[in-house]
Amino acid sequence: MIYTGDGKGKTTAAIGVIMRMLCIGKRVAMVQFLKGSMMSAECALPKKYKKFILARAGSGFFTHEHERDEQTRLAEEGLAAARRMMKDADLLVLDEVNTAVKLKLLRFRDLLSLLKTRGKTHVICTGRNAPRRLMDAGDIVTEMKCIRHHFSKGGKAVRGIDY
Ligand code: ATP
Ligand code: MG
Repeated sequence: MIYTGDGKGKTTAAIGVIMRMLCIGKRVAMVQFLKGSMMSAECALPKKYKKFILARAGSGFFTHEHERDEQTRLAEEGLAAARRMMKDADLLVLDEVNTAVKLKLLRFRDLLSLLKTRGKTHVICTGRNAPRRLMDAGDIVTEMKCIRHHFSKGGKAVRGIDY
């Protein structure tokens, strides 16, 4: 499953599938690329659901070129963690992995070779600008389209809605 596009709802949709899977007793793992601090509400999920593993593989959104080496190292660690998690998960979510590939923190071919090992594990890749070849490979490919977002009118991030 690929969730991409500039509209809000990609990570939110992935969390929706996570909840469904947990509700039927499935094992779920999520690696959040680029994201650093454990501020988002979903970071509380592993405490509540023993079958959910969460790893963060970033230090906040990548804005300066001088952060590239460090961000690349973290993204590669995230991909390695995802490789380990794949075999014991019924669902693996690679949150913001599309963005990490777009920013060239990860090589597309490394992501593709991970996806080839998925066997029966369902995988969700989220993030804007999913590579065309990733979209071609997906079974469910959804593009969220931004019509309006409250941030553009100066709205503040709302806990539980935006993070
Ligand atoms: P969410 O995590 O809320 O589902 P998302 O995964 O679709 O959003 P990201 O690109 O990961 O979107 O951005 C995450 C943050 O940016 C969220 O706080 C979200 O509210 C905000 N955001 C998402 N889309 C937009 C947009 N079109 N304009 C402004 N802010 C946005
Ligand atoms: Mg997101």
